[in-house]
This record gives sequence, structure tokens and C-alpha cells, in this order.
Amino acid sequence: MSQGQKPLTPKSLALIAAGLFLLVALTIYRFREATPPDRPTPVQQRVKSIVEPASQQRTMTSFSGPTMGTQYSVKVVSAEPLAASVQEKMAADISEALALVDAKMSTYRDDSELSRFNAAKTTEAFPLSSDTISVMAYAQRISAETGGAFDITVGPLVNAWGFGPDGRVSPPSESELAKLRQRVGYEKITVDTNTNTVRKSQADIYCDLSAIAKGYAVDHVALHLDDYDLAGYMIEVGGEVRTKGTNADGGAWRIGIEQPDTGERRARRVIGMSRISMATSGDYRNFYTADGARVSHTIDPRTGSPVRHGLASVTVLANQCLLADAYATALMVLGPEEGYRFAEEHNLAALFIMRTEDGGYEERTTNGFAGLFVDTAPEQD
Ligand code: FAD
Repeated sequence: MSQGQKPLTPKSLALIAAGLFLLVALTIYRFREATPPDRPTPVQQRVKSIVEPASQQRTMTSFSGPTMGTQYSVKVVSAEPLAASVQEKMAADISEALALVDAKMSTYRDDSELSRFNAAKTTEAFPLSSDTISVMAYAQRISAETGGAFDITVGPLVNAWGFGPDGRVSPPSESELAKLRQRVGYEKITVDTNTNTVRKSQADIYCDLSAIAKGYAVDHVALHLDDYDLAGYMIEVGGEVRTKGTNADGGAWRIGIEQPDTGERRARRVIGMSRISMATSGDYRNFYTADGARVSHTIDPRTGSPVRHGLASVTVLANQCLLADAYATALMVLGPEEGYRFAEEHNLAALFIMRTEDGGYEERTTNGFAGLFVDTAPEQD
């Protein structure tokens, strides 16, 4: 302290302390005012707003129509409403993608390349498009994995049991079956992805891509939609589904897994999907009864007859819809026990719904199934 200065009296010290206290209290009060207790301080708020932008309005645009003897539905989500010209181009892209698969892989039209291949009574290498060759190559891989349970050469049996383009509601005779089975077996075709050709080992081979080509069509539409700046999409063709991103509410796409009843359609489960495909095969839609037994469109190529077990449906989740589609049919052929073992051994995400004696259902899911979605509704029996 410098010379001549008088020491502070206790009173003046008290006045200074009171002033300082008042100043600090006022500052805290003002600070609190600026950021009420339930909101982060300004610095946190800046970080928060960068990490979680305020929820944006999203617009959903839908496209639907007939395709491959069934219906398709496509829903796309965008940050802004799509201009009419963009909607038109998107609609054209979607129908073009579906028409391409129909023109190449349908057994329901004589002019498809698959029908021309089936009609060609030759064992020479037959040229096909890279689309159809890649689908056949996937099919052959799954046939080899499943010991022929999945087999695209099953066509003659599918048609004989009445599930092909010509229809029919009387089962084939034993002698007819024995003859037809001579024409079935995935080893009887050789798919060459280098030359984009496929060769029959006998001229009367007839291939049916109905268990895999719809899944391919879904993937093909997704390829087109990936060219657009979208927040998400859901593509569905005859029950095969592929999702990406979010729905219009910014959440996962809510997709129903059907209760495998023959009557009214209702969801047994609704699952939230975001970046995955789903396909279901079952015996409760496409079937007839003969001599009191259910005759369904899933044929076991190893016996020549429709599958006969208690499995009502199998749902498979996979990145590619083509794989989900084919594996769902393969597991339906393999049945509840062998199919479940195969699915676990091959890390497939699958849900098996079996019929029970009392007319209800019981479910079995593989380990890979649960983690791939958000379950949004309880099972209903
Ligand atoms: P999935 O279980 O996916 O497939 C079952 C189908 O696969 C059976 O119907 C049979 O064809 C075949 N299959 C059966 N067992 C096996 C097996 N072990 N291995 C391999 N395959 C097997 N239907 C029409 O009514 N009119 C049409 O114009 C028409 N056009 C089509 C065009 C294309 C390109 C495709 C792919 C299908 C078309 N269909 C048409 C068929 C119709 O879409 C089928 O009913 C559908 O593909 C069967 O699919 P799913 O999901 O019902 O059954």
C-alpha cells in the first residue's frame, strides 16, 4: 500500500463486499435468463444444431401399377416436393425397369428371351442378356448350396401342377411325373457369365425364374432411384420389398409380414426397415386342394411334388431383394427343420411361421433376423 493512503475502515470493506456480491448475483441471474434450465448453453446449442438439424419437412411421392401378373408400389421421400418433370421421369424409369425384367424373364409371354430360350430345342450355347445371365448365375449358386432345393429348371413340374402360364387344376399322374422329372435338375444347364450364354444338356430343358426375377426387378428399380437425390424409398413388387433411408416422418419404413391365412390379408408383425430387402414365400396364396391336401406352387424338384410340411411361410431379409426372394423359396422347399438348419449355417436372416395342431401358428427366427429391424407391433395369432 503507498504512503499517505488511509487504511479501509471495516464499514467500507463491508460496502465493497456487498457491491461485489450484488454484481456476481446479477450476472448469474442474467445468464440464467438467457438460457432457461431446460435448454443447453449457447456453446452446446451450436454443436447440437450441427449434429441434429431441426426436423425437416419431407414429401412422399407414390407410384403404382400392374406388373408381372401382380402389382407394384413405389414410395419415394424427398426434402422438397418433386417437380412434375422429375415425377414423370421417375415414373418412366420405374416402368422401364419393370418392363425390362418382364421382357427378358417372363414365362408368361412367348416373346421374352427366357421363353425363346425355353422353346429352342437345342443344346448349343444360347446367348442371353447380361441381366438374365446374372439372375441365372445367382440361381445356380443357390441351387448348388441347397442341393437342388432351389432349381430354376423346375418349370415343367410347376406347369404340370398348374402354377405356370397355362394353368390347370388336376395333379399330374405318377407316370407323367416320372417323365417330367427327367427334364429337371440344375446341373442340366451351364451358365457362362463370360460369354453371356447358357447351354442345356438336353434340348427339352425349360427354366422358370418366377422365384427370383421379381426380387431382381425390385433391385433394378432401386438402381434407378439411387440416381435421384432422395431421403428414402420403399419399392414393392408382388410382396418383395426393398427400403432405403427414411419414410416421410423421418422414421424407418414400416413393412408388414402377413399372417399366413388364406382369407383377408392382415399383418402378423410390422417391422421397421431402413436399408434392407425382404421377401416371403408361402403356401397360403397360390394353392388348390386335391384329395383333401393343399397343393401349393412351391415344388420340391427332388421329389417332383409340391412341398408337404407344416411351414406356412418363410420371410428372409437380405441386402439384395433377389437373394431374399430366392432364399425364401429355397427355405420353403427345405422345410421347417432342414430349412432352419440351412438358414443358420448360411447366416440367413429368416422368420419361419409354422402351423400348429390347434390351427394357430408358431414362429422361429434365426439369430441373424432380430438385429436387422425395429419390431413395431406384437404378434397376432
Ligand atoms: P415365390 O415363392 O417367390 O415363387 C414361387 C414360384 O417359383 C412358383 O410359382 C414357381 O413358378 C417357382 N418355383 C416353385 N418351386 C420352385 C423351386 N423349388 N425352385 C425355383 N423356383 C420354384 N404371373 C401371371 O399370372 N401373369 C403374368 O403375366 C406373369 N408375369 C410374370 C413375369 C415375370 C418376369 C415373373 C418373374 C413372374 C411373372 N408372373 C406372372 C408370375 C407371378 O409373378 C408369380 O406368381 C410370382 O412370380 C411368384 O412369386 P411369389 O412371391 O408368389 O412366390
